[in-house]
Amino acid sequence: MKCSKCKEKAIAYLKPYRIALCKNCYPNFYLNLVSRSIKKYGILRKVERILACVSGGKDSSAMAFALKKLGYNIEILHIDLGIKEYSVKSKKVAEELAEELDVPIHVVELSEYGFTIDDVDVKKVCSVCGTAKRYLMNRFARLNGFDVISTGHTAEDLILFFFKNVLSGGIEWIPKLIPRSESSDGLIARARPLFERSEKENMLFVLSLNVPFVTDECPHAPRDVWKEIIYDIEIKKPGFKQNFVRGLIKLAKSVKVEKEWELKKCRICGETSSSDICAFCRYVEKFGRV
Ligand code: SF4
Ligand code: ZN
Repeated sequence: MKCSKCKEKAIAYLKPYRIALCKNCYPNFYLNLVSRSIKKYGILRKVERILACVSGGKDSSAMAFALKKLGYNIEILHIDLGIKEYSVKSKKVAEELAEELDVPIHVVELSEYGFTIDDVDVKKVCSVCGTAKRYLMNRFARLNGFDVISTGHTAEDLILFFFKNVLSGGIEWIPKLIPRSESSDGLIARARPLFERSEKENMLFVLSLNVPFVTDECPHAPRDVWKEIIYDIEIKKPGFKQNFVRGLIKLAKSVKVEKEWELKKCRICGETSSSDICAFCRYVEKFGRV
C-alpha cells in the first residue's frame, strides 16, 4: 500500500478519511485535524497559559506534543499516583517528553496527601483515582495561575462516558461532554483538544514521530466491555466514532439542565465542592496513613 500523498510506503489506511499515509505525511495530516477541531470548537487560544496533563500514555503524550507543535503555550503536569513500576515508568516518560519539547514540567505526588492508588482497597479504584486526578489538576492549575487545563481525552472516552451514564438515566451530565468548559467558582477551564481523535490516530502520531509514551497498562485497569463494543461498531461502520462525538457535542450544547449543583467550599481544603467536605478530602481521611 502506497501513501496517497507522496507514494512512499504507507503505515496505515485510515478508513474514515479514505486515505493511506506514510510515516512522513501522517504527522501533518494529524496536526491539521487537531488544529481544525481546536479552531472550529474554540477549544484553546494561543494567548492562554495551558496546563497539559500528561499521564505518560499515548493519548496525553500526543496531546502535549501536538499542542506544542501547533504553537500553544503549554507546561506539563504529571501526577505521580504511586502505582509501583507503572508510575515510575510514567513519570520518566513525562519528564522525557518535557525535555524533548523544551517545556517546564511539574510533578505532583499523590503520596504527599498520605495515600497512593495502590493503597485504595475498594472495588472501584478508578473512580477514586479519577477524583484524585481531577482534584489535583484543578488545585495545581488554580494555585499556579493557569488559564486552562488540557487533557488527552479521545473520541472513545467521550462515547464511553455517554454509554455508561445514559444507562443511569439522568441528564445532568450531558453538558459536561462539551470539548471546552470555562472557568467558574474556583474550577479552572477544561479543554479536550483530542475529543474527535481516536486512540488509533493518537497511536500512529506518537509512533510516527517517536514521541515518548508508556506502553504498559495500569495494573488496576479493568476490562472494558463497552470499549470493545465501540471498536466492533467502528469496524462495521468506519467513521462511527467521529460522527457520534460530533452528535454528542450538539446534544451537549442544546440540553438545558435546570437543577444545578449548589457549589460550596470544602471545610478542610477550601476547594470547590458539592458538599461540606470534598470527595478528595474524604478519600484522604479514608485511605490516608496519617
Ligand atoms: Fe487510575 Fe484506573 Fe487509570 Fe489506573 S486505570 S491510572 S487506577 S483511572
Ligand atoms: Zn477538600
